[in-house]
Amino acid sequence: MYDERAAIISLEKRVWPGGAVCAHCGEMTRLGRLNGLSTPVGAWKCYGCRKPFTVRHGTIFHNSHVPTHVWLQALYLLTATDQKIGSQKLAHVLGVSVRTAWLLKVKIATALDAEESGSDDPMLWRPSEPVFLDPAQDEEAETQPGAAICAARYKRFLAAIDGLATAKTDRLFLEALCRLLPSPVAPAIGPAGFLAEQQLELGLFSDPSNQMGRGFAP
Ligand SMILES: [Zn+2]
Repeated sequence: MYDERAAIISLEKRVWPGGAVCAHCGEMTRLGRLNGLSTPVGAWKCYGCRKPFTVRHGTIFHNSHVPTHVWLQALYLLTATDQKIGSQKLAHVLGVSVRTAWLLKVKIATALDAEESGSDDPMLWRPSEPVFLDPAQDEEAETQPGAAICAARYKRFLAAIDGLATAKTDRLFLEALCRLLPSPVAPAIGPAGFLAEQQLELGLFSDPSNQMGRGFAP
């Protein structure tokens, strides 16, 4: 979550464990990542319905001017402090206005409350990667737009959670994140043809006229 690309990649792994899925029509294969300079990070184009989408669709991050990595850092700070961090401090750490920090607090608290009784499937929050990755080991991090701003923000963020971040707060963060995200889209089993074959088979067995023993009835 040290920059936008890292945050988007992390979300994509959680929401789309089997690869990208069009947020509009569910297309899973005829998709392309948009890498133009003017396109937002994480933008995809669906060649099924011809609409663009990102992994932020259907989440509280959608339609927000606040970058995803800022949302994730806010979520970590809020969960690790049991939502006791003040808007002023949050704004300072994240490099946003106090009003934006306050809005992030309210939106995250509201969304978590709404999902309080959500899925407690431990599969959902099982970490697929460590929460904190080292940007120094990411060759692309330095070439991203706004890299210096992101690096300075991440430094303030790490300082703010110094002495606060533990395995428990990591877990709380992941649980909270999973409550804010749609359930992961089940990965397709093998190539599309294989899946279709399986469905056909299942169809045969669920159709009583095709069950074994047909023709032997008295
Ligand atoms: Zn589509």
